[in-house]
Amino acid sequence: MKGITTGQIKMNIAVLSGKGGTGKTMVSVNLARITVPSVYVDCDVEEPNGHLYFKPEDVVCEEVSVLVPKSDPDKCNGCRECVRFCRFNALVFSLDRLTVFNDMCHSCGGCSVICPQEAITEYPRTIGHLELGRSGDVYVRTGIMNIGEVAGSPIISRLLDVNTSPKKGITFIDCPPGSSCMVMESIKDADFCLLVTEPTIFGTHNLKMVVELVTEFDKPFGVILNKTVEGEADPSEEYCLENHIPIIGRIPFDRELSNLSSEAKIASEESVRFENLFQSILDNISEMV
Ligand code: SF4
Ligand code: SF4
Repeated sequence: MKGITTGQIKMNIAVLSGKGGTGKTMVSVNLARITVPSVYVDCDVEEPNGHLYFKPEDVVCEEVSVLVPKSDPDKCNGCRECVRFCRFNALVFSLDRLTVFNDMCHSCGGCSVICPQEAITEYPRTIGHLELGRSGDVYVRTGIMNIGEVAGSPIISRLLDVNTSPKKGITFIDCPPGSSCMVMESIKDADFCLLVTEPTIFGTHNLKMVVELVTEFDKPFGVILNKTVEGEADPSEEYCLENHIPIIGRIPFDRELSNLSSEAKIASEESVRFENLFQSILDNISEMV
């Protein structure tokens, strides 16, 4: 395998898509595999699946928790200052006691500071965990949110901060689909954003949302057109051309590529044809950054 050596540089490339199923993880995994050394970070904490391709070894787990408040009923006088303060409506005072809705709490810590009776303390609540391992030259980091949790941003934040990777090299950030606050957390330190889309009107609609997001964050970006079919109209391509958005690469609809992905195989490892395809995408990115 040729690959590219990135020992002299450090860069974060975020891979996004407006919806699931566009091939975002397939692109992230293949780019990480042909780059040496590299870091693959799976921020799709609700449904991470990049590790299925890499099958990392020597995996270390780390719990992720957030601080949530609890009130001491012996100290609380029912003044409701905390309820009025919480802009997330996570606190309710009724039946002579304070109730905390943990799912709505953003762990800002304000209620414990504002309580005049010093009745509120904070305790850690586990919301998920990280799995940190290695697959050859790729450092693989996966964030996994516990079932029933709704806010994955603290897991993503920890996932991007954790220090188990080489000082130099390219980090590929496999973002959650869509344009939610979890995506914003995932791209905040990205040097370049790669937007993966498909040739459907729905795909184009979602691409536009992600373009708006990365533009708002003032990130340089380009688009990968996935599942293209020669001779057929591609509304995503038309949108890019009309709006002067750089097209970084085209990945044709290819049954072999689909089969390899469905078997959780990394196409660039299995075939020189696919290795060259992803190599050309990397070359185009390096020309832009
Ligand atoms: S601010 Fe403190 S004393 Fe007042 S209701 Fe809340 S917990 Fe009780
Ligand atoms: S920590 Fe912040 S978000 Fe959570 S209940 Fe207190 S004030 Fe509300």
